[in-house]
Formats: sequence, C-alpha cells, structure tokens
Amino acid sequence: MILDSEPLLHSRALYVEGKWVSPVEGGTREILNPADGTAIAVVAEADRTDVATAIAAARTAFAAGHWPATPVTERAELLVRIAELLDTHRDEIARIETLDTGKTLSESHTDIDDVIAVFRYYARLAPTAADRLVDTGNPEVISRVVHEPVGVCALIAPWNYPLLQMSWKIAPALVAGCTMVAKPSEVTPLSTIALVELIDRAGAPPGVVNLVQGSGGVVGAALTDNPDVDLISFTGGAATGATIARTAAEHITRVALELGGKNPHLVFADADHDTAVDAVLTGAFLHSGQVCSAGTRLIVEESIADDFVAELAHRAARIRVGPGMDPATRTGPLVSEEHRAKVEAYVALGISEGATLITGGKRPDDPALESGSFYLPTIFDHCRSDMRIVQEETFGPLLTVERFTTEAEAITLGNDTDYGLAAGVRTTDPSRGERVVRALRHGTVWLNDFGYYTPAAEWGGYGRSGNGRELGPGGLAEYQETKHIWHNTAPKAGGWFTDT
Ligand code: NAP
Repeated sequence: MILDSEPLLHSRALYVEGKWVSPVEGGTREILNPADGTAIAVVAEADRTDVATAIAAARTAFAAGHWPATPVTERAELLVRIAELLDTHRDEIARIETLDTGKTLSESHTDIDDVIAVFRYYARLAPTAADRLVDTGNPEVISRVVHEPVGVCALIAPWNYPLLQMSWKIAPALVAGCTMVAKPSEVTPLSTIALVELIDRAGAPPGVVNLVQGSGGVVGAALTDNPDVDLISFTGGAATGATIARTAAEHITRVALELGGKNPHLVFADADHDTAVDAVLTGAFLHSGQVCSAGTRLIVEESIADDFVAELAHRAARIRVGPGMDPATRTGPLVSEEHRAKVEAYVALGISEGATLITGGKRPDDPALESGSFYLPTIFDHCRSDMRIVQEETFGPLLTVERFTTEAEAITLGNDTDYGLAAGVRTTDPSRGERVVRALRHGTVWLNDFGYYTPAAEWGGYGRSGNGRELGPGGLAEYQETKHIWHNTAPKAGGWFTDT
C-alpha cells in the first residue's frame, strides 16, 4: 500500500486479479526524489512471467464476460466512486506526485483535479453514447451500429504526467467495458500505484484492472509483443512509439500512439505584449519544459522581436527554480540526472549550431540545489528552423527563438516540423487568428491562450506526434470495436442460386 503510509519507503507489489502480489523473481527498484536524489520508495520490478500472468488475468476477466456485460450505467458508477476517492486523497496523492516527479505541489494538485474531471466526464458521457440505427431502405431489416469493448488493453504511460496520462487511458477503458494491464514509467510509478489502490477500494472486479511495474525494455516489451493484448495505448516518445508500432504489427494489434511534440508559439506584433510574454514563459518553462505540449519554439514577428526577447530573458532569469515541495518554487527539477545530461547535451549542441544563448544554459549556482537535477530556464535567440535544437524535442527548459516578417512565413515556420501535437497563436486581429489556426497542422491550436485542455475535447497529434486521440468522445472510441448488426425480421431466399 502506498496511501496512508509514512514514510513512503516500502516495497510496493504488483496488482493482479484483485490482489497485491510479489513478482516471481522478487525484483525491486528504488525510486528517487529528483529534487535531492534521495530514495523515497522501493517498488516491485516485474519480469516477463509476471506480465504474462497479468495479461492472462485480464483475458480471463474479459472472457468471463461479467465486466463487458455490466450495464454501462454501473460501470459509470465505478468511475464516480474512483473520482470521489481521488478527491478524498487529493493532498496525499499530490505530495506523492511531487516527490516522485519533481513538479510543484500546485501543479500536482492541478493534475489531480483534471484527473477527477476526466473520470467524471467519462462517467457522464458513456451512458449517453447511443447505438445508431441505419436506414437500409428495407423496412424488414433492422440495421444497427453498436459499440463493444475492444478487449484486453495494455496501457503504457510516461514519467512527466504519470497520474494524468494513465487516467486518460484507464477511465475510458473501464467505462467501455475493457480489461487492462497498466504499466507506469519505471521512473515515476508511485501515483499510479496509489490510483490502483483507489480503484481496488472503489470495487473494481478482480482482473479488470491489473498493474505491473518495471522497465520499458522488459515489462513494456512483454506487454506489447503478447498476442493476447487487443489494444496497446501508449503515451511516450516517438522512437518508443515506432518500436511499439513495429512490434504490434506482428499480431495486427491495435495501437493508439500519443507521442512527443516540438510546439511552435507564434507571436504577431499586434498581440497583447504582457499576456504574450507571460504565456510564452509558462508554455516553455512550466514543469521545466517536461511537457509534451510545451511551447518551446517561439516564432515572433521581427518588428517586436528584440524587445520581446529581452523581456523574456529578463523574466526567465527570475523564475524561481527549486524543490516542488517549497511553496516559493515556480518550476522544479528535471526528472533525473540522466535526463539533465540529455538537456545539457542539447544546450551544447545549440551553441555549436550557432544559436545565441541569452539566458540560462547552466545549472543553478545555489549550493542548496546541488543534489537535485535542476537546470535553469534557457533561451536561444537567432535560431534557424534547420537547427536540431529547433526540430528535436529536448524535453527540458529550453526555448528557441525564430523571427518572421509575414503571416505566410509565420505559418510556414509553424508547420516546419515532423511533429504536430500543439501550437499557439497570439494576435488581436480575429480574422488573422482564424486564418492562422486553420493553416497550422497540429492536433491542438490555442488562439490567445496556451496549454489548456478540457476532458470533453480530443487530444492528440498530427505527423510524428502520433495517431490516436484521447479525451472527448474520440478518447472513448479508442477502446471500442464497432459492430454492424443486420437483423432481417422476415427472412426469405435471396434469389442468387434459385436455379440450383
Ligand atoms: P518513453 O521513454 O518513450 O517511455 C514511455 C513509456 O514507455 C514508459 O512507461 C517506458 O517505460 C515505456 N517503454 C520504453 N521502452 C519501451 C518498449 N520498448 N516497449 C514498451 N514500452 C516501453 O517516454 P518518456 O521519456 O517516459 O516520456 C516522455 C515522452 O512522452 C516525450 O516524448 C513526451 O512528449 C511524450 N508525451 C506525450 C504526451 C501526449 O499526450 N502526446 C503526453 C506526455 C508525454 P520506462 O519509463 O519504464 O522505461
């Protein structure tokens, strides 16, 4: 158990068929607090045998038919009970998320509120998602299109929004009538363990939700190459997504991929200056840039660029970096030493590519932050779109700046990416705003805002940002098969072979 336990440092088991069980080989993994490098928990580490057992439990629960056949209103009631329990344990889970990921406590609270909203949204939506009657032109035929659960789902989530990303999968999968095996990132599994504890307390039948922990290379691979899995829903990096898609192709397993982004933020000269500066800073440096939709690519109109960038640099240098548990902190550490090393390599690359470093580009000087994986908000000016720091997802507090002079050039730059997850546009001219948002090839485009989403609107990417949609009705459809039922109420011989 992770909830109600103090300190967190205990071995956490796997959850299979409604029971907390130890991995066959007894493997464990230490979970570190990125703010100071200390161990905060020891969790179970599964291997391929444990994964196979969990998938078998999900398959048995699905085949038994109880959960898929449970009326959707009853499945929705389970989601409401989970939402209520999350609300009750809101502060405790926020603390766990902050200790595990490094994000500030207020960010963790926001995540949990969003997660609660998602469980409640799907509890409301699913019972209203009616079947469709189709007019065949034949009054003796009743033709219906109905939706059924897709089956056993493998749910794989990343480390940056562990609770949120896993909940975007579990809530629709549950209400659709699927059974599942969830795998959080090995780096940040704690809030998912807490969520599964609450799902257990809320009364999910055994085998419907199962939890395995461990590395992507072993546990993730064992989930994705198993022919008994009907759907893999994956959120993570593009390279891992490509590996999973190749593996899934072997068994024609359905795959939903929510991948990375390199998200442009277009600022026109007529934009409201103060709100634009504020939004660009928040878009780039919240959670130290470890956000799939982070606006890490500023594309600003030449006539205001010098002043705009100078103010950004001034304010970025004053962002208070520190431990997420400190209420004065505005952005926390990077998730690990290993990840900070990657970000540092990108900064070195930016310098070697000829971009102008105007702030940050180093670790904080404060000796109190030495043991954490902190990195200062960093801005590179005078970037070109052919630079790797402009094209590749650095997943750190690293903002690049490009300049444009015409609307057409701004759009070309905004679309000059293999990704297509999210983009922002800032202008006070509504018709230009509308033209530009329609021209941008990204799954979410914010006009005079940045970073917001709602459970009722689909989320997902164009291009290398993936092929699935989460949230909204489309997020429920990911977990459903579509069946056409043709019912002839007055069957007669068809007439093709009457002469035989
Ligand atoms: P990642 O390295 O691709 O890992 C994501 C998940 O996949 C983790 O649980 C990981 O396990 C697992 N995994 C790794 N290798 C695997 C394999 N061969 N087979 C199956 N599973 C495997 O991504 P990350 O570094 O955790 O997360 C950052 C990425 O996620 C960024 O690219 C970010 O943009 C993207 N992201 C996208 C969205 C979106 O909505 N589109 C949202 C959030 C994040 P381990 O961690 O245990 O290795």
